[in-house]
Amino acid sequence: MRAPAATTHQSTRSTTHGPWCNQTRHLHQRGEKNKRIQTVRTLPPTVQSSHPPPMPMPSASLRLAVIGAGAAGLAAARELRREGHAPVVFERAAAVGGTWLYAPPAASSDPLGAAATHSSLYASLRTNLPRETMGFLDFPFAAEAPGSADPRRFPGHEEVLRYLEAFARLFDLLRLVRFETEVLRVRREDRGGWAVTSRKLGDKGSGEEEVYDAVVVCNGHYTEPRIAVIPGVDAWPGKQMHSHNYRVPEPFLDQVVIIIGASASAVDISRDIASTAKEVHIADRSAPVRTCEKQPGNNNLWLHSMIDRAEEDGSVVFQDGSTIKADVIMHCTGYLYDFPFLGDDSTITVDDNRIDPLYKHVFPPEVAPQLSFIGLPWKVIPFPLFELQSKWVARVLSGRIMLPSKEEMMEDVKAFYSKLEARGWPKRYTHNFSNYQFEYDDWLAEQCSHIPIEEWRKQMYNFNGINKAVRPESYRDEWDDDHLVAEANEYFKKYL
Ligand SMILES: Cc1cc2nc3c(=O)[nH]c(=O)nc-3n(C[C@H](O)[C@H](O)[C@H](O)COP(=O)(O)OP(=O)(O)OC[C@H]3O[C@@H](n4cnc5c(N)ncnc54)[C@H](O)[C@@H]3O)c2cc1C
Repeated sequence: MRAPAATTHQSTRSTTHGPWCNQTRHLHQRGEKNKRIQTVRTLPPTVQSSHPPPMPMPSASLRLAVIGAGAAGLAAARELRREGHAPVVFERAAAVGGTWLYAPPAASSDPLGAAATHSSLYASLRTNLPRETMGFLDFPFAAEAPGSADPRRFPGHEEVLRYLEAFARLFDLLRLVRFETEVLRVRREDRGGWAVTSRKLGDKGSGEEEVYDAVVVCNGHYTEPRIAVIPGVDAWPGKQMHSHNYRVPEPFLDQVVIIIGASASAVDISRDIASTAKEVHIADRSAPVRTCEKQPGNNNLWLHSMIDRAEEDGSVVFQDGSTIKADVIMHCTGYLYDFPFLGDDSTITVDDNRIDPLYKHVFPPEVAPQLSFIGLPWKVIPFPLFELQSKWVARVLSGRIMLPSKEEMMEDVKAFYSKLEARGWPKRYTHNFSNYQFEYDDWLAEQCSHIPIEEWRKQMYNFNGINKAVRPESYRDEWDDDHLVAEANEYFKKYL
């Protein structure tokens, strides 16, 4: 079955919105073919009641390949099936959860590489967002939810996995997943659709090929390490590793460790390692050049400006001129987008962490809606964003929402790039959503006739950002927004 010719329709009316939405609004509702093809699981009435009046029923059920069963893949599978489609979810691991499936990297693997391990979690990791904000919109990540075993507001990583497992069970998603099955290749078919080649773990052959109407990519983007360039490091005798491969502080006992980065992981890992290491020195490229400051709360933790060079005798020289003899350099320098299974026919390229071109960070205009991406934006609350993107994709695929023409989508992408340039943002920040994630979420919600993101969630996210800056050591255990917690818990009652 071919996907409906949704992309070719022109928009019917224009509205003015913020920077995300400077294009026309492309919502068409097809009243003439409102027949649902496939029976969809009935949700509890409380869940249904959160949605505005339903749109007309979809006009086509498509066979879809979803790549990945992390939070994004699960959200996509649920929304695609709700819309009457037939998703098959390919998952390399033996279980759902993606990032939240904690796993030690293989001992012999390259400490600077992805090391055949998907997850980048360290053992001590607690969420860096308050749980009330994190959950899917109609499935709260509440401490009172069934199965919860860690009621803290910023729980350990195991609690997030329990939550995702509960989500998959409640919405009956597990039977859609082909576990231990890796997608090797996705290729556009001349006669329409996409050929997906997958291989079961342990199989030696070249894999099995099947044709799908469309492919939804949910493969995550916290696995392929980005490494800092350090002049002289090739001759430096110490050990380098990336935070992707960090798990526990014990191997750093009595060592001198340099951490590069200022992200949430750098903050956490530097404190974790300081519990066993002799000294920890953070190199932050955004710190003023002369920075060399002892950090409060730890007597063996310093903040520096960026590394200038590494030397053969084991020294590392910072831009402030200070020199440290170090045993380890830990790159907490983020990750690269990577789609090893996509070829040129996907029509996208990845350059300096920009995936280009993508309409609203989801659809490559040339092949939309048959290829889409869920979960690319960063500096966001991920799960609600995944959910809204998934609703949009599901409805575009069924023809209930029309995309603009290819030309209009390309224009929108270009206009967005111009805005980034005007703001002075580097290319690698293309999918960095700080400051406008909620505008984007609300645009998606509007497309799908869904209620906007709750006001308490937006406020709580902002409060947490401030609290984290003010109390980097203790924001997970001390906060000033109990009034928002109370509001969230009241809101959750209709779902629990
Ligand atoms: C250290 C760290 C801390 C974080 N803390 C938080 C937090 O506190 N709160 C929060 O909300 N978010 C946090 N995040 C963000 C987190 O990544 C998202 O919450 C979310 O888990 C991302 O989901 P995803 O489905 O997009 O990707 P992933 O969870 O990475 O899932 C992708 C899935 O795709 C599978 N896959 C990939 N390639 C293939 C293939 N070729 N074939 C088959 N399967 C494939 C993988 O095995 C994996 O299961 C954190 C991330 C990191 C790295």
